[in-house]
Amino acid sequence: MATCNIEKDAWQQFLDFLQPRCAPTEFHNWISPIRFVKATPNEVTVEVPNIFVQEYLLENYKKDLLHFLPVQANGEPAISFIIKEPTKKRANISLKKEVAPARLTLNPMYTFDTFIEGPSNQFVKSSAMGVAARPGKSYNPLFIHGGVGLGKTHLLHGVGHYVQKHHKKLRVECITTEEFINNLVDHLRNKSTQKMKQFYRNLDVLLVDDIQFLQSRLNFEEEFCNTFESLIKQNKQIVVTSDKPPSQLKLSERMIARMEWGLVAHVAPPDLETRVAIICQKSEQKGLSLDPTLAFFIAEHIHVNVRQLEGAINKLCAYANLMGIPLNKENVCEILQDIFQTRADKTLTLDDILDIVSRLFEVKKSDIKGGSRMKEIALARQVAMYLAKELLQDSLSKLASHFGGKTHSTLLHAWKKISEKMHDDNFLRKQVELAKQQIRYL
Ligand code: ADP
Ligand code: MG
Repeated sequence: MATCNIEKDAWQQFLDFLQPRCAPTEFHNWISPIRFVKATPNEVTVEVPNIFVQEYLLENYKKDLLHFLPVQANGEPAISFIIKEPTKKRANISLKKEVAPARLTLNPMYTFDTFIEGPSNQFVKSSAMGVAARPGKSYNPLFIHGGVGLGKTHLLHGVGHYVQKHHKKLRVECITTEEFINNLVDHLRNKSTQKMKQFYRNLDVLLVDDIQFLQSRLNFEEEFCNTFESLIKQNKQIVVTSDKPPSQLKLSERMIARMEWGLVAHVAPPDLETRVAIICQKSEQKGLSLDPTLAFFIAEHIHVNVRQLEGAINKLCAYANLMGIPLNKENVCEILQDIFQTRADKTLTLDDILDIVSRLFEVKKSDIKGGSRMKEIALARQVAMYLAKELLQDSLSKLASHFGGKTHSTLLHAWKKISEKMHDDNFLRKQVELAKQQIRYL
């Protein structure tokens, strides 16, 4: 029937539109299992392996569906779902293939020995070493948070390596949140979630990377939370990493409370000395001999994260190998010009301050400028106001107006409060100093 084909085409067009916009694993796990069943001019029917796939599609791609599929009177896409009953044969085949327990994959370079310590990460490193030495017996869970490229995954794998070496009998699993979700989807598809539960709940140490990816994945959050609780109840160690502290994750209160049960440790951007040490270590690992003054020079110019430092070393290595010319300040400057953040010609703006504070305090720029009274956001806002008053020439009223139309007296109050707090709060003082240091290097 012509109409049917047109509607089927609509579904196909939707898939063609989606595929290049999805990560291959996402497409494989979420979209490929959906089967087109039938179509009328008013509705498209598809078959899904489980309710999660249905919800995922509607949660993430409703707008796109509306572009390609018929639309209901209430503005919703006209799509109906049939949940598939898997045949036994199919389930068995896929069980063999997909449900085998995941192998432990740790990056061999990410050990405690190769992790350079400095004031920004001392606390978090010793917490990680503490749980590795006595899994389940000290802080549980250990929650590590901090910006990108600051060594969270490195430390997580460090725990894995240490446990493997020193507690040989313990079962360890290191998994990204994305992998956990994909794993769960596979098991749901195969109706084998019980197997998965068994696997996770029999672990001794569970290391979970990037828990922020659990945000807005309601159904998975519950399963994760159950696994989590069951392990903690048995005193099994859990370590979690995240780009934000628990209270700022958009997760259920139950989940946030669980994350805060143990120890929450923050990893901050490394200070100058630590960056120099990291550059020296990484260049040595790569066989690049780098003059200490050059290491210092590079560290002065790259301050956002360690991944950038590594990128710089890789570039210098490639250059030194190819050209066989000794490195000096001039050619280093040239080779690294796109990584160096020198902006001698540019004056500092409020936006620069907001960028730095938002990174350091792991709070969105829009939140700093907004009205939220959440503790972390309010503190970041006060620090931004403090720095604005300290470092910018504009009038207080003009500066205050950038913070959601606040008045000059609010800004002055924030400045006073932070000035006072810095006297007794070492951590805050360090954060503000770090912000100033980063501003100097802009
Ligand atoms: P994150 O998970 O926080 O985004 P990673 O753990 O992936 O960061 O770290 C990025 C890179 O920087 C990795 O190659 C890691 O080995 C390196 N790195 C980060 N911090 C340190 C450190 N303190 N000492 C040595 N290498 C580090
Ligand atoms: Mg990471």
